Amino acid sequence: MLKYEVKSVWEQTDAKKQKLMHDFAKKYMKFISENKTERECVAAALKRLREAGFCSDFENGKYVAVLHNKSLFAIRKGKKDIAEGFRLITAHSDSPRLDFKQNPILESIGIAQAKTHYYGGILKYQWLARPLALHGVVVKKNGETVKIVIGEKAGDPVFTISDLLPHLAKEHVAQTVTKAFEAEKLNVVIGHIPLSKKGKDKQENPIKMQVLQLLHKEFGIVEEDLLSAEIQVVPAGEARFVGLDSGLVGGYGQDDRICVYTALEAFLEVENPEYTTALMLWDKEEIGSEGTTGASSRFFEYCVQDSIRAWSADSTMRTVMLASKAISADVHAAIDPDWQELHEKQNSSTIGHGPTLCKFTGSGGKYGANDAHPEYVAWLRNIFSEKEIPWQMAALGKVDHGGGGTVALFLAVYGMNTIDMGPSLLGMHSPFELSSVADIYYTKEAYKVFYSAE
Ligand code: MN
Ligand code: MN
Repeated sequence: MLKYEVKSVWEQTDAKKQKLMHDFAKKYMKFISENKTERECVAAALKRLREAGFCSDFENGKYVAVLHNKSLFAIRKGKKDIAEGFRLITAHSDSPRLDFKQNPILESIGIAQAKTHYYGGILKYQWLARPLALHGVVVKKNGETVKIVIGEKAGDPVFTISDLLPHLAKEHVAQTVTKAFEAEKLNVVIGHIPLSKKGKDKQENPIKMQVLQLLHKEFGIVEEDLLSAEIQVVPAGEARFVGLDSGLVGGYGQDDRICVYTALEAFLEVENPEYTTALMLWDKEEIGSEGTTGASSRFFEYCVQDSIRAWSADSTMRTVMLASKAISADVHAAIDPDWQELHEKQNSSTIGHGPTLCKFTGSGGKYGANDAHPEYVAWLRNIFSEKEIPWQMAALGKVDHGGGGTVALFLAVYGMNTIDMGPSLLGMHSPFELSSVADIYYTKEAYKVFYSAE
């Protein structure tokens, strides 16, 4: 066709296909409802991989390794030697949230609160006056790890950050958003009833004491144990279909668990690939990919070295890396119907129009971009068109109006072909992000095509 056009997936699919899309979305919704931290995502992925025969030795051609319970590498031996390169998809399992500070609990004016430090890019006001849940681990001095999840089961209490009443907000509403919402006011309500002790034994901070007592009773922990804890405050509740037609999925942490889930499923479904396939789940993407479990750490490289030693000892890492192809699987921003002016429409992605390829990220004059090579984009176009995968090409927002980066840079250092690809979201980084049922399904299908392409 002479003219290029992007079409809605919904207009190109029949009822039977759309039923498949909805069924897949339901499984995805279960995954993101149950796994709201990087640890939970990695544990769930590891379980699926182990069930499929992945283990910690290379002999059966299906290897998996986990670092610090927060990042995961899995690799499946292909028909061709690994020296001919592997096909890699990476996604990140951390999402923006509020972390408990290390000494979090305070009592003030009839309420016990937990002090937090936000993680990743959030609009702070989106976290106020809504039900929140706690997910995390407390590691005791003796090394025992206590898992905590409160606020998800029916009947569980939830937590919240109380917001200002409009009657007293006259000055507050006149401030800029950045000034109006202070990080040190993101204190989570965690208790209200004082511990009752009469007479001489009356305690200082009785509400805090009650909270500590409840924590001790339920989890066997004391306040000092919180020093070696990671407790994450996340939106409470399950992902839901959105709209009368249930065409969208609303839920927390879709950036980037939508790619974690679709990449994992694709990786598992392609059981007998031509090329060796690999899946890497990273942590810390939302705070710059630093840290032992982030994309800038050497874990990925160590795992690749081990794979080469096991399966093709005479090959060099350089040969393998240069011959490999990668997808940095991450979400993209869809044009928001209410904020269309922020996008340059001809080069933006539309929700429900298939997964988005993003040739370059970065900001300003493409600073910080990987910028995929046209030869690679052409190869992808070809494999997707052969299998009739709907997809679109987009850049993030208008030039000079913001921007952002992904982990693509950390793959590009090895010289392997790398591009960003994933579904587009509305309300990215909010407590209730929206994705299209159509895009979820076709992202998984696209990743399958990538893994199985010859
Ligand atoms: Mn992301
Ligand atoms: Mn993000």
